[in-house]
Amino acid sequence: MHQLTIADIIRGLRARQFSSTEITRHFLDRIAQLDQRYNSFITVTEEQALRQAQAADKRLAAGDAPAMCGVPIAHKDIFCTSGVRTSCGSKMLDNFVPPYDAAVVENFNRAGSVTLGKTNMDEFAMGSSNETSHYGAVKNPWDTTRVPGGSSGGSAASVAALLAPGATATDTGGSIRQPAALTNTTGVKPTYGRISRWGMVAFASSLDQAGPLARSAEDAALMLSVMAGSDHRDATNLGHASQDFTKGLDKEISGVRIGVPREYFGDGLDNDAAARIEAALREFEKLGAELVDISLPHVHLAVPAYYVIAPAEASANLSRFDGVRYGHRCEEPKDLRDLYMRSRGEGFGEEVQRRILVGTYVLSAGYYDAYYNKAQQVRRLIKQDFVQALERVDVIMGPTSPSPAFPLGAKSADPVAMYLEDTYTIAINLAGLPAMSMPCGLVNGLPVGLQIIGNYLEEARMLNIAHIYQRATDWHLAAAPGLVSDRTGA
Ligand code: GLN
Repeated sequence: MHQLTIADIIRGLRARQFSSTEITRHFLDRIAQLDQRYNSFITVTEEQALRQAQAADKRLAAGDAPAMCGVPIAHKDIFCTSGVRTSCGSKMLDNFVPPYDAAVVENFNRAGSVTLGKTNMDEFAMGSSNETSHYGAVKNPWDTTRVPGGSSGGSAASVAALLAPGATATDTGGSIRQPAALTNTTGVKPTYGRISRWGMVAFASSLDQAGPLARSAEDAALMLSVMAGSDHRDATNLGHASQDFTKGLDKEISGVRIGVPREYFGDGLDNDAAARIEAALREFEKLGAELVDISLPHVHLAVPAYYVIAPAEASANLSRFDGVRYGHRCEEPKDLRDLYMRSRGEGFGEEVQRRILVGTYVLSAGYYDAYYNKAQQVRRLIKQDFVQALERVDVIMGPTSPSPAFPLGAKSADPVAMYLEDTYTIAINLAGLPAMSMPCGLVNGLPVGLQIIGNYLEEARMLNIAHIYQRATDWHLAAAPGLVSDRTGA
């Protein structure tokens, strides 16, 4: 049963081949049996899941259930869940039990979906390997000596290990797409403002966006249809009602213009991974698309601009964790200053502290113009590059990450090497565009992701293009070794 995609599960539930309670029980058992290997969950919400499944079975029997009703999924532990600890991967929030649900969680609850639990992540979503989590690293199901990517590594690993058919995630600079690439899953970062950020712990508010991680473009579209929508509680929400993103998935793609940025195929990209990406582009040509050579002249400035803007916003967002209102508080503080210093010093890990220091520095009076303002100017130039390119092409394609999954520990001592993991994804957050990663082959048994970047609010188009590729190939259904699958990657 765990091999079923979300679309399969929806059909099976409706055909009464199994109940939501049965399939939920099945995934809970798998998590209990297998997750010591991967550490992809921080919290498993067994009782609640079975209650939700029972309620879903009633709705399904009544015959008026929405599409995702009864489907079990997992939520990244960055989304507030009423009555269930929401740690954000940090010691700071180890004891935090929110009194409310995030908008994304509300939407899934309203749709009747079942929450299996909360997935592991880099602390406050800062990282590209899931190694900064207070709850320990997540292991890549394709090779447990390697990282699953980050920061949504737990969500990606849970889907790749077939412990959940889909999981929610967030992407500030690549945290949905890069783990999707490293674990052979399909992950979508929608247009900034498409999904409400209400109740999602803030990292860098002008870049953060939620999205789905699943095993196919179709499944991602099903999840996105539930996640998207207008919400007055998030002032940056675009106010667009959700839509059925599965409509139009099968539209033929002949004549579609695919921009191939030359900056995405230079030094730094693994040769074998590049070959897989190029093979995918040729497959798109066979499917009728046209490849167009494009240039994004400022995109090489994305990583430096991001590592000014994101820490600046993080330093402001994380100031709320002061040991007073909620979260970790040190033992026996001497005075208020001691309370702040020790609570924050003990509650935040090294990478989070580094970001707060950098962010505070670039926002300080003497350096604001030199760093923060400059980075915002660069951000505008990067956005213009994409806007101009997307006047000539329908989508842009390239690699998601510079190489397949790397060994645990390989980059943890070198923050800059870790930051470069997101060279191909970060610019898209700076521009606010939608983008996704989907599997396009293996290198030495490790997955490679193809990135597809769409125009503003054109997620449906992007998913359609991905779906047509997945209809013609089956890389996305290849299962990690040791996980029984009736389908294997070509
Ligand atoms: N790896 C990037 C960072 O550490 C992006 C993380 C994310 O998208 N949340 O900031």
